[in-house]
Amino acid sequence: MHFIAARQLNKMAKVLSAIKVCGGTLRRIEHVSSSTGTTMTFAVFSPPTKIYPEQGFPALYWLSGLTCNDTNFCQKASPAFVQAAKEGLALVMPDTSPRGAGVEGEDASWDLGTGAGFYLDATNAPWSTNYKMYSYVTAELPALLAGADPSWRVSVVDRSVSGHSMGGHGALTIAMKDPAGWASVSALAPIVDPLSCPWGHKALDAYLAGGHTGEEAKQFSAVALLRASGKGFGCSLGEILIDQGAADEFLEAQLCPGTLQACAAEVGQPLRFRTHEGYDHSYFFVASFIAEHVAFAATNIRAKAKARHEKAQAEADAAAKAAAAAEAEASAAAEASPVGPIECQAMVAFAPNEPLTLESIIVAAPKAGEVRVRVIANALCHTDVYTWSGQDPEGLFPAILGHEAGAIVEAVGPGVTSLKVGDHVVPGYTPQCASPSCIFCMSPKTNLCPSIRSSQGRGLMPDGTSRFTLKRDGTTVYHFMGCSTFAEYTVLAEISCAKIRPEMPLEKACLFGCGVSTGLGAVMNTTKVEVGATVAVFGLGAVGLAVVQAAKMVGASRIIAVDVNPDKFTAAVAFGATECVNSAALPAGTTIQSHIVGMTKWGVDYSYDCTGNVDVMRAALECAHRGWGTSCVIGVAASGMEIKTRPFQLVTGRKWVGTAFGGWKTRTDVPRLVDKHLAGELPIDAYVTHTLTGVAATNEAIKVLKSGQCLRCVVVY
Ligand SMILES: [Zn+2]
Ligand SMILES: [Zn+2]
Repeated sequence: MHFIAARQLNKMAKVLSAIKVCGGTLRRIEHVSSSTGTTMTFAVFSPPTKIYPEQGFPALYWLSGLTCNDTNFCQKASPAFVQAAKEGLALVMPDTSPRGAGVEGEDASWDLGTGAGFYLDATNAPWSTNYKMYSYVTAELPALLAGADPSWRVSVVDRSVSGHSMGGHGALTIAMKDPAGWASVSALAPIVDPLSCPWGHKALDAYLAGGHTGEEAKQFSAVALLRASGKGFGCSLGEILIDQGAADEFLEAQLCPGTLQACAAEVGQPLRFRTHEGYDHSYFFVASFIAEHVAFAATNIRAKAKARHEKAQAEADAAAKAAAAAEAEASAAAEASPVGPIECQAMVAFAPNEPLTLESIIVAAPKAGEVRVRVIANALCHTDVYTWSGQDPEGLFPAILGHEAGAIVEAVGPGVTSLKVGDHVVPGYTPQCASPSCIFCMSPKTNLCPSIRSSQGRGLMPDGTSRFTLKRDGTTVYHFMGCSTFAEYTVLAEISCAKIRPEMPLEKACLFGCGVSTGLGAVMNTTKVEVGATVAVFGLGAVGLAVVQAAKMVGASRIIAVDVNPDKFTAAVAFGATECVNSAALPAGTTIQSHIVGMTKWGVDYSYDCTGNVDVMRAALECAHRGWGTSCVIGVAASGMEIKTRPFQLVTGRKWVGTAFGGWKTRTDVPRLVDKHLAGELPIDAYVTHTLTGVAATNEAIKVLKSGQCLRCVVVY
């Protein structure tokens, strides 16, 4: 498990000072930033507490204005500490730009370069190498804080953002671009529209390739973002609080808050805008009202956390109730009759590419070391379709396919000790025998336990026989990947079952049976991506998006999502992609690998093939960073295909690796992934794009999955 990769980075973060204030501690931290390529310094205030929250303190990010660094707010806005201590809130105070980057002209004026990063990622040379304050504040810094020592760890979930002037602009635009990521946003005397004020023009013209009139610039204006959202933000962002001094010397020329007020009214965004007579633009104004902004953030963070907990609790209660009922039903059934064969419905594949047939089948009682389970839900995976389509030369027919499921143990065979009737399980196609004599299970380096591999490959249970027969003529039906979950009941080896907490809904748990886990594990286990790394992902199905999600979770700084279908880019960005590339729309003569090398200078630190196409695998390898880039093959290639590249690619430091089930050990790790989800740290709901009912709907599910609009289609039996 490598959820703690961020902590490695903190070994390099240096605490410059720790000062007691208002009962809590104000730390200044220095670290080398991968976003800016410079040494960055930030301040973080931790409120007084006896117990550190495991996920870190809820926090208010404070973004300062032009010419400021991380210390201005600390020294001039002390009411913030009084209020934050009272609310139990941390304060995060980043710098306003890289320092000492050596960019020509960065110290020539006070409103550009040093002290004036504008919370954007520059795309125009020479600024584009170092001036990456958007990535720094939204990705790198939160990851570092989430992995910090518990005494100053900061939550990535419970947080709000606020700021002053240029920082107000930063707070508004950052929250508007990720409304689900922040409980609330507020600002004091913000620049609301850099597209139409001199400070904004100067900054955007210098930093952005398209200048202040370009398309990109609209991403860095609160007014433009609000206008583009239509009525989109109102519910997710909640009310915005803005304070403005009426005697502010920049009010008319630079700030122009009226345009934001008008736009908010137009699109229905709730806005509490307060004008204060006689106050100017200085920190005296900030000090006068900052306590209310801290309280505003704390109130909103608490409300969002409460709503989240209530939702999780309601889901858990409903699932526990359902589980208890199912368990009572199962144990009553077990008592009523000894374990014998059972009749149920299944979708049987009789021949490649022919629609599956709904059949009544007989499922024999589980033998020694086996369990029989009632399948509750099955998520279709491309491997099922691959075998069904006949491309898999080892595919056997007739067979019951399916391997991504959630199920409840209905009967146990002799000698089964780790499972009992009523247990909730996710079937695994990679077993974990956990025997001390199994050198694979005993090694932390692999999840590939070979103990039942040969029978599983022949479509049979470990004793060399099948548990399935057709009711109508007694024909034997083969098993598939040790799972066969296109059936209402199936038999599994005990060592193939991951036992999970019953409060996890099985129609979601099934996702951890293959694709999603594989993508997550490729990042967290196989390649162990570190904070700040750059990543490219080829193929944006469920596996590719899981790679994107995991890369974001571990703090990757750039996540380049590649596909030939631009319809997939919206989802990729929602999962955390920072850039999307349509590899089918590159100029003639440009390969995708040379394009990505061009975007990154030397290539990406990690790349992933999630397509199964051997040409894409080659492209993924060749866009990996000279000297150390690692490329991971995840996709399953068609039978007989071979990968190739020039050996020079490896000699110059690239590594080619592969992963099966993301390196997770089924019985140990799948339950942990479920726990992580239940703790709210691993959202997976967005993968389920389609839901169908009844095992007979599996043919429809295959159609849906092949349509290209589907990530996962869950069939609930
Ligand atoms: Zn083993
Ligand atoms: Zn699969």
